[in-house]
Amino acid sequence: MTEVVRTVAQAAKGFDSLSVPTYRGSTITFPDYKSFSERGQRPRSSYSYGLAGTPTTRTLQNKLTELEGAEDTFLTPSGLMAVTVVILAVVKTGDVVLLPDNVYPPVRRFAATTLAKLGVGVRYYDPLAFDDAQFDGAAVRLVWIEAPGSTTMEIPDIRNIAGRAAARGALVGCDNSWASPVLCRPLALGADIVVEAVTKYLSGHSDVLLGSISVRNEALARAVHDAVKSLGVGVSPDDCFLALRGIETAAVRLERVGRTALELAKRLGEKSCVAEVLHPALPDSPHHALWQSQFQGASGLFSLVLADEEKARFAERFKSLTVFHLGASWGGTHSVLAPVVLDSERSVNRTYAGRKIIRISAGLESYEDLLCDIETVLA
Ligand SMILES: *Cc1c(COP(=O)(O)O)cnc(C)c1O
Repeated sequence: MTEVVRTVAQAAKGFDSLSVPTYRGSTITFPDYKSFSERGQRPRSSYSYGLAGTPTTRTLQNKLTELEGAEDTFLTPSGLMAVTVVILAVVKTGDVVLLPDNVYPPVRRFAATTLAKLGVGVRYYDPLAFDDAQFDGAAVRLVWIEAPGSTTMEIPDIRNIAGRAAARGALVGCDNSWASPVLCRPLALGADIVVEAVTKYLSGHSDVLLGSISVRNEALARAVHDAVKSLGVGVSPDDCFLALRGIETAAVRLERVGRTALELAKRLGEKSCVAEVLHPALPDSPHHALWQSQFQGASGLFSLVLADEEKARFAERFKSLTVFHLGASWGGTHSVLAPVVLDSERSVNRTYAGRKIIRISAGLESYEDLLCDIETVLA
């Protein structure tokens, strides 16, 4: 029954859909011996095997390359892996990586386990006090930036850090997941590499895990490509389709959640139980000027620091939510809250360690419903 195996291809000519086709495939076929045997020598952009890219995954790569103002983009199965692949791509034993104290916490675990095993040193720095002393006595290969930092929302001076790193011959990588390329382009501010958790605002519907790495030049593209290829990193074309569809509405979603979040931040800052609102677009935020000079807007994620209170009281607060959901991620259409108490996630600046923090990701529900709902938490 060869007929059950063989499928006659239907020509797509004339079906000019506005949607991106989802191309699946591990094996791809070659017309002759020569093209098959020489497939390894062809440029990075050609097709050789499903793991190395399909027209769907390449469409997403090209779209992100354009949005970031980059030379090329690589995709990873998660935002976390985008960070770890960048580090593995550029460091060798004996090198040192500078990580911001407010880095996405799982990166700390990667540093303490995988990087430690490889003999790669890690130093944590205060993102608000970066100076040349950070480089003293260390072969710093990479300075990592997160803008703004996880949960505590500090805005680093990307231009300043990038300038100091370049003077020392170190690379600069930036996690831009909060802003996405819609609201910030770190490569234009001097970063060499930008990483997105595509999982968050770019995909935007809490149904995809995906990361991206965009680089400034061809030398870095080759380094990241070598890492991706040797580690066997590949992504599903179905996930890329969802990300491509999500990105089409990213700017309008960000505009809406940005407005909702800023309104909530202003109103909730008036509550007696809120000691501090961590949102860089608030005019009285200590990070406001740096945010304004580097970002084109604010997304929907910010945090509240509660006035000192008992642990039991904090736990009680989240009992009667009907619009917000409790959850660890952010960037989707549904509003999500995360109660956070930082401890081992900060080793340099412990200003917020031990404080009861509520991280808020505004979604697309109506502002009035969200305000009513979160007022039950802060009553
Ligand atoms: C969520 C997140 C990541 C990781 O993204 P995943 O796709 O969930 O692995 C990386 N950086 C930041 C700042 C994040 O918030």
